[in-house]
Amino acid sequence: MKRLIEETQKEYALRREKATAQAQARKGKAFAKIEGLSEIEDEIARLGIAMLESLHVKEGDKQELLKKMEELKLQKKQLLKSAGQREEDFLPDFKCKKCDDSGMTGTEVCICFKQQVAAKLYGEKSLLSVLERENFDTFNFELYSNKAQKGQKNPRQNIKKISSDCLHYTATFGRESGNLIFTGAPGVGKTFMINCIVAELLQKGVYVVYMTAYDLIDLLRKSKLSEYAQTIDSSFVDALYTCDLLAIDDLGTENATDFAVDEFFNLLNKRLLDKRQIILSTNLNLNELNEMYSDRILSRIMGYFTPYEFVGGDLRLKLN
Ligand SMILES: [Zn+2]
Repeated sequence: MKRLIEETQKEYALRREKATAQAQARKGKAFAKIEGLSEIEDEIARLGIAMLESLHVKEGDKQELLKKMEELKLQKKQLLKSAGQREEDFLPDFKCKKCDDSGMTGTEVCICFKQQVAAKLYGEKSLLSVLERENFDTFNFELYSNKAQKGQKNPRQNIKKISSDCLHYTATFGRESGNLIFTGAPGVGKTFMINCIVAELLQKGVYVVYMTAYDLIDLLRKSKLSEYAQTIDSSFVDALYTCDLLAIDDLGTENATDFAVDEFFNLLNKRLLDKRQIILSTNLNLNELNEMYSDRILSRIMGYFTPYEFVGGDLRLKLN
């Protein structure tokens, strides 16, 4: 995580430099064509230095300098105007207008920076390629059988309902939104659906962190052990508590005896109390889940989740 933050900071510094240099180049090119402008610019710069040095100059002289400066600026503006240009046109074109690509707004980390780091956290697969492949537009209902197995739901009708609910969830996402848990056998599209939601929300500027339960619990464990103090960034552990949506894939694959599992459930509990949303997915059904964590907090917090059962054959087999 520390590595990701540093890496992102470097990217931001480069982005700023590039935008500034490009603006300078654009300005230089345009200004060169306007006669008399470079002389005025030089004079403004010279006056600026004189004003800095004028701290112990008589008040009257200082006023004189200020007046001269104003005049020069006005001349410059008029020259630009007659050439059909505005000084604002030569400001750097930063990608984020909130933080001018500094990554900070005042003392706060800008949402764009958080998103950038969150996107990297999305794992080995780059976020963009996931977004392109797995989103609500690319969801293929045809992959789901239109025939119900005995005693089961019709897989296609079922996924259409889930998809429409999830789309509504992303469209209305906010502090009052509920929490979701996706259950079902491996390969029935749970991770795909999480990706759809994450993709949609990230595009809306929601601060989302996505992790597998295994990695999340591993991270929580390491954050408690002193030998990892150098490699674990506490701000990332904080993000698990403070992000708008925490999406956790594959619950139930972790080692349930791990001391960090308790830490994990405390995290879920804390988020629920703070009204910060969670999406869980698991290959277990709710009964198995309750059995696995019988004496743990999970069974007590399940009431705060809306369950969705995914049914159908293994889609990964059909896709191959
Ligand atoms: Zn920003």
